[in-house]
Amino acid sequence: MPWNQDSGQTIGFPECMSAVPLPYRILALVQERNYLFQYPLERLAGEIKDAGFRCEMCGSCCTQAVTRNIFLLDHDVVALTQIDPESFEPAPDPEFCDQDGTLYTSGYALKMRGENPRACWFLEKDRCRIYDQRCSICRIYPYMLRRIRDPGGRFRWRRVSRPGEHGHCHGDIPDEECRTLAREVKEYENAFITQQISFLETIQEYFTRHSLVHDHSRYLRGISQVSRGSPVTIRVYKAGELVEHRDYIRGGQKVTA
Ligand code: SF4
Ligand code: SF4
Repeated sequence: MPWNQDSGQTIGFPECMSAVPLPYRILALVQERNYLFQYPLERLAGEIKDAGFRCEMCGSCCTQAVTRNIFLLDHDVVALTQIDPESFEPAPDPEFCDQDGTLYTSGYALKMRGENPRACWFLEKDRCRIYDQRCSICRIYPYMLRRIRDPGGRFRWRRVSRPGEHGHCHGDIPDEECRTLAREVKEYENAFITQQISFLETIQEYFTRHSLVHDHSRYLRGISQVSRGSPVTIRVYKAGELVEHRDYIRGGQKVTA
């Protein structure tokens, strides 16, 4: 599933995930959301206070030097459509491909442009052109609340992205700001998981209704076309629908719907 990645220059595709039956994946996400609900807000606020992170406004998290993919929630897409409808595109890492070769991805991502590194559409001279209206993930970064597996296979919570590698730590953040941040992080993570669940449920219903199946060979061919910059047909999850983009070229101009 796509989301703000810490690093990585290449496009990675979750080939193995499409092999897991959808009901199991949905159940696993519902379980994740339950764990998230159970995480005490005050505990997270205290951890944010202890970290004392202060951004030094270097702008690197808005570039592919740090962030491979800036995933958008449904309400971000609504807002960006008003601000600049050219600023986003189907998120990389499509998860499914049907027997006709159409790819399916769980949402949109901010478009990247420029080179070395490619940077967010809205980044100009290391500053965000829409700072007051920036997207949900941009508002909470580098905070997060995700369970990840450690090398021993045990789950642990991850709360800060790239700790110690950017910004300043051990600053004094007012208690109220910590609580606000904690609330925003939990809201974001809940909205993210909920969108992933809804994407899978929509795929399940759509594939059943149209007698479609996931075709792994065509999936690999489609991924290769995207990497080479060849046009593909892709359907993007958006508020319970799968919006079709024909002749889509990643990062290119040729996007028709
Ligand atoms: S959050 Fe970190 S990477 Fe992003 S601008 Fe601030 S210091 Fe730089
Ligand atoms: S919208 Fe602004 S804050 Fe978010 S990634 Fe783009 S430039 Fe950075």
